[in-house]
Parts: sequence; C-alpha cells; structure tokens
Amino acid sequence: MTTTFTPYKQLQKALFLDRDGVVIKYVPYLSKPEQVELPLGAGEALKYWQNAGYLLILVTNQSGIGRGYYCLDEVERVHRHICDEYGKFGVTFDDIFICPHHPQDNCLCRKPSPQMLINASQKHQISLSQSFFIGDAPSDVECAIKAECQPVLVLTGRGQETLRKLSEYSTRIEVFEGLRDTVKLIKS
Ligand SMILES: [Mg+2]
Ligand SMILES: [Zn+2]
Repeated sequence: MTTTFTPYKQLQKALFLDRDGVVIKYVPYLSKPEQVELPLGAGEALKYWQNAGYLLILVTNQSGIGRGYYCLDEVERVHRHICDEYGKFGVTFDDIFICPHHPQDNCLCRKPSPQMLINASQKHQISLSQSFFIGDAPSDVECAIKAECQPVLVLTGRGQETLRKLSEYSTRIEVFEGLRDTVKLIKS
C-alpha cells in the first residue's frame, strides 16, 4: 500500500497593524481623507517589513460606524487614501479588516476579540505565532495575546497611556517609540 503525502503549503507571516495612532496619526473618529497623516518614517518602515516577507494587514475597530458618526463608504475612502499615501513608498496592504460595530452590539469581531486575526490567518494561511501585531491601545495588546500573536506596543497615539497598563499582562510585550523603530524586530 502506498501513501501519498500532500505537501504542506508554507504558512505566511504577517505584520498586523492597528490603524489609528499607529499607521496614521491619532485623530478621534477620523472620517475624512484630508485628516490622514503618516507618522515620520512609517512609509519606509512598512516597506522594510514588506521586503522582509511579511503580509501587511490592517485591523481596525471603527465603532464610529455603529455610533452613526460616519458610514462604511467614508471609512473606505479614508482607506483608499491611506493606501495611496503608503503606495508612494512602494507599500501595499494585503488586506484590511474592519469591525464596524458599536461596543454594545457585543459582536464577535471588535478588538480585544482575536476574531479578526483568526479570520485573517485562515484567509491568508498565516502562522499567528510567527506574526506580530503592532498597536497603541490595550485592546490591540489583548487581541494579540488572545490570538497567540506577538504583541508590540508603539508609544504613538494612545501608547503612553497603554504603557502604564503593561504590568497587567504576563506576556512579553515589545515597546517602541513609533512604527519607524519596529523594524528592529526583523531578524536579518
Ligand atoms: Mg489605535
Ligand atoms: Zn465587530
């Protein structure tokens, strides 16, 4: 009797990125492309991650939709603008996951739920343990920990506030000043 082995498809590694306060400067309930501003060195940094073989995936809570402050179309316009701005650096985002719900909707996707990371890992065959999630809020850190992805905190956006809560977590959490400095995590 012969056995045929199906070769495993190599799992991919990803850089998951929170949007507000990480990929763009923090503006509460940002809804217009004109409000988008990239942090210094962010474009070059993401290009570096991309060249190192990481998928770049945005994972964002946009409760402003559920709260009725803006609609999904406006969020998508903002995302097109973010993609254009990063495109100037040769950076392409591989996917964008949005939770549009109000916190009181008790949805499954809103961070700190790991659901958006789990969905991304299934869609793109990603090894979460070999991936990083860069965020500025406690919900990002908790989402990464629950998904068994490596959490990274940046001190931009709400990062300084989040830094004071880090002792509550038993997982090792890398901390950097901003997105620009996270390239130090890439093993050469
Ligand atoms: Mg944020
Ligand atoms: Zn949701």
